[in-house]
Amino acid sequence: MARPADLELASVTKRYGDTTAVDSINLKIKAGTYCCLLGPSGCGKSSTLRMIAGHESVSDGDIVLGPEVVNTLPPAKRGTAMMFQSYALFPHLSARDNVAFPLRMKGMNKVDRSIRATEALKMVDMERYQARLPSQLSGGQQQRVALARALVTDPQILLLDEPLSALDPFLKVRVRAELKRFQRELGISFIHVTHSQEEAMALADLVIIMNNGRIEQAGAPRDIFNSPATEFVARFIGGHNIMPDEGRKISIRSDRLQISSGGHGTPAVVRDVEYQGIAVHVSLATETGVEMMAIVPERIFYSHPFEAGEAVKVHWDPADIHELAA
Ligand code: ADP
Repeated sequence: MARPADLELASVTKRYGDTTAVDSINLKIKAGTYCCLLGPSGCGKSSTLRMIAGHESVSDGDIVLGPEVVNTLPPAKRGTAMMFQSYALFPHLSARDNVAFPLRMKGMNKVDRSIRATEALKMVDMERYQARLPSQLSGGQQQRVALARALVTDPQILLLDEPLSALDPFLKVRVRAELKRFQRELGISFIHVTHSQEEAMALADLVIIMNNGRIEQAGAPRDIFNSPATEFVARFIGGHNIMPDEGRKISIRSDRLQISSGGHGTPAVVRDVEYQGIAVHVSLATETGVEMMAIVPERIFYSHPFEAGEAVKVHWDPADIHELAA
């Protein structure tokens, strides 16, 4: 087994001609971390991952893996392995031969390759399917073969580029839990690129939110959700109301708003009511035109339901006000 290693990006920049895809980012990922790079399309996530993998050159700055600057090392010499979005399995090779492929590239003999490949397939519970071709496997099974192929070289860090995007919603949740379990068992860092905040929240010890080639915020999911640093972060992770308040900009979680038909509070009109099972989502517009969303537990909402068009008062505990950076 490879030793888990710390990873550091020091002022790493990626330029493609005139485009700065990654703009001097600094980042430390301790060994054994599940890290998600999260952000909208085009924010520089894949470029960052590809630079770590060595599939893309670094324009400026250093990538440090363990004690070593790896900027100029080829991908196979870095101690990283990459799992791609499309799995990219060879259609004419069995599951075992797919997994053995990176070992063949390293010049390992056939017998050892076969043993190691079978071990890796066992790790992802796919040993009994090792003779099958990719077309004879389900999407989730192909995904596990791809994972075994990435892990067979004993990487210190596993890099995953949108690994769940090809799976249906049900499988996504199941495979997500499996990825987390594998990461915990292996004890190495996984760096997982996603544009889904739900996926990042569910998986990550460390979420890196990127915007326009820069890091907007890095932290544990709960810390980010409870204290979004900027308006961008608050909007991107969702579940927050953002409004101007006495010359500053504030956010308040949607589940912290209360609605009543009278009394004190900010006057508003109910725009829409959406039943979601566990909670009811109530869209509101204040007299000054601020759009808000209150998420009300089902039982509380139906003890005093509101309808679209109704005039209400919205209130919140001042302790729930969170100030955003300008
Ligand atoms: P993300 O993974 O967050 O969607 P990318 O890292 O793929 O973002 O892209 C970041 C920016 O760099 C985008 O503006 C994209 O168009 C640009 N870009 C990515 N790859 C290339 C490339 N090979 N050549 C030129 N521009 C690129």
